[in-house]
Amino acid sequence: MKRIYLDHNATTPVHPEVFEAMKPYFLDIYGNASSVHEFGRKARVALEQARESIAKLFNCSPEEIVFTSGGTESDNMAIKGAAFANKSNGNHIITSAIEHHAVLESCHSLEQRGYEVTVLTPDAKGLISPDQLRQAIKPETILVSIMHANNEIGIIQDIPELAGVAHDLGVLFHTDAVQSAGKIPYTIDQLGVDLLAVSGHKIYGPKGVGLLYIKKKTNIRTLSHGGSHEFKRRAGTENVAGAVGLAKALEIGWRDMESETTRLNRLTSAFVNGVKNRIDDITIIGDQENRVPNTVNIAFEAIEGESIVLSLDMKGIAVSSGSACSSGAVEPSHVVLALGIPGALAQGSIRFSFGRHSDEADLDYILDVLEKEVARLRSISPLYSAK
Ligand SMILES: *Cc1c(COP(=O)(O)O)cnc(C)c1O
Repeated sequence: MKRIYLDHNATTPVHPEVFEAMKPYFLDIYGNASSVHEFGRKARVALEQARESIAKLFNCSPEEIVFTSGGTESDNMAIKGAAFANKSNGNHIITSAIEHHAVLESCHSLEQRGYEVTVLTPDAKGLISPDQLRQAIKPETILVSIMHANNEIGIIQDIPELAGVAHDLGVLFHTDAVQSAGKIPYTIDQLGVDLLAVSGHKIYGPKGVGLLYIKKKTNIRTLSHGGSHEFKRRAGTENVAGAVGLAKALEIGWRDMESETTRLNRLTSAFVNGVKNRIDDITIIGDQENRVPNTVNIAFEAIEGESIVLSLDMKGIAVSSGSACSSGAVEPSHVVLALGIPGALAQGSIRFSFGRHSDEADLDYILDVLEKEVARLRSISPLYSAK
């Protein structure tokens, strides 16, 4: 059976060039980057080259890049690290209702330690406005965490504006940029953030590696203690192969961004038009102008998203409903709900996330299967009566 992967926001395959770049650091250059001998020195050189190449892309200094185990750790380090280090300045944190669980749960854990968290609700398109943020900032506010591109609906926030508001009022700004890396051209100075999280496996790099950008002089508390690795920001033997892979993945992401953006925009537009033409009673979720080119989220009335996921899977097509972290539980996506979509409709929302290997030639097959399966599920749904 044909297998079509439309779940690139959950994870991506490692790019062959990334795999090739990493290989020597498993087999030959396996030294501990902290060892003083030749084996260690060679590993150290690779690690620092990876850091430098990322710093060049981001237009920041290499000392501002800390390698981590992924997006989740980077978000935890940024939010808890900033909260703990700045406690004497206040205990208030602001985030948004459409964040990834890595951010929401980090904030939640701080609430249990006596911090106060304000969760901003986006408008119907999924956007947080600068005014809304300005009004939420209080004298006690120490950190704002708002994501760059959303993993479920693809919406892009105006990070330069939002970070500007926070800085005007002397507040640190963190952004989860896991879904924007390689999809939106940016440098750190353009975004104007203090902290920024990236993950390898969302951008055709390896799983289990990520980074946190920490602007020079930003006060954050170290969460993991041990050796003096990563500028004493994160203890633990460095994942040299992972860092090399992450750097390569970012380099390829930036290198191919223009052509991939054009290709994916065309592909997802054709997909959306196809769905609109063939299937009634659907809602396209979120702003269609302001989204990353690979992500489309559609709610199908009167069916459970989970049923669509399983039906499509039987036909070889991989998509997701809600966020991968909560699949298993049939709960509507917290992101779709935050846009004011009613619960029943949100239940039927599906994320289609296209990627490098998504082929226009597969579109007809995808649309055929989707049309047929939605019709079949609706024919057995007590909730559906065709208009
Ligand atoms: C996947 C994802 C994360 C978590 O990254 P991991 O490397 O899987 O821990 C965080 N934020 C967003 C927006 C994501 O899509």
